[in-house]
Amino acid sequence: MGVEVDSARVDAVMRAEAASRKAPDNRSDPAKSTPRPPQRRGRAPVDWTEEARKAAAASESLEALKTAIEAFEGCPLKASCEHSVVFDGVQGADLMVIGEGPGAEEDRRGLPFVGKAGQLLDRMLAAINRSRTENTFITNVNYWRTPSNRNPDAEELDVCRPFVERMIVLGKPKLIIAAGGVPAKALLGTSAGIMKLRGTEHVFEAQDGTSIPLIPILHPAYLLRRPQDKSRAWRDLLLVEQRLNELG
Ligand code: URA
Repeated sequence: MGVEVDSARVDAVMRAEAASRKAPDNRSDPAKSTPRPPQRRGRAPVDWTEEARKAAAASESLEALKTAIEAFEGCPLKASCEHSVVFDGVQGADLMVIGEGPGAEEDRRGLPFVGKAGQLLDRMLAAINRSRTENTFITNVNYWRTPSNRNPDAEELDVCRPFVERMIVLGKPKLIIAAGGVPAKALLGTSAGIMKLRGTEHVFEAQDGTSIPLIPILHPAYLLRRPQDKSRAWRDLLLVEQRLNELG
């Protein structure tokens, strides 16, 4: 893509890394086990993904979708959470960042990307003149904190998927950043790893035919652990900046 690495800006963006190298991810151990979703006694089992699809389709705005997600009872993770963490930032922004799911700080505050990794994400976005207060929308592929900070499993991701798709359709971003391997794989429907997916543009396709360019980047929590990968992250951010300029 012909983007150059600006070392000074890389260092400015990633300054926190060295200090944070030993910092664990901001998510710590909640309950160890995840119960199954509730079923209605004596009736046919509830298809929670179908329930999510109906609730998502009936939501005509991002606020209505947030309310529907908060009211949704089909993900067992919810039982051990303080909040459903749905979105933050500017509704209708041309850039949508989609991460993996809330950690401890996000669960406590009810907002995505507000822990250590989120603070790094904010600095990364700032380096390309982006912020959640001005021109960027931030969400996740899973709205509830997982036990022991594990990755959300396929069932948990499936049940959130109709909400995620509706979020993208209603938000109408021109470009999506998938922050990390979990959202990149979930949104692109691939098993390829983040190192293979990053560095290039892909296309997210929703079931209603909506298709939106998507650029996977390394997750900021990973970059806190592996600051030596900062030049990769920087190249990906420059690609985002370049594509946003092209997409007008
Ligand atoms: N990591 C994520 O992927 N999302 C958050 O909201 C917080 C940390």
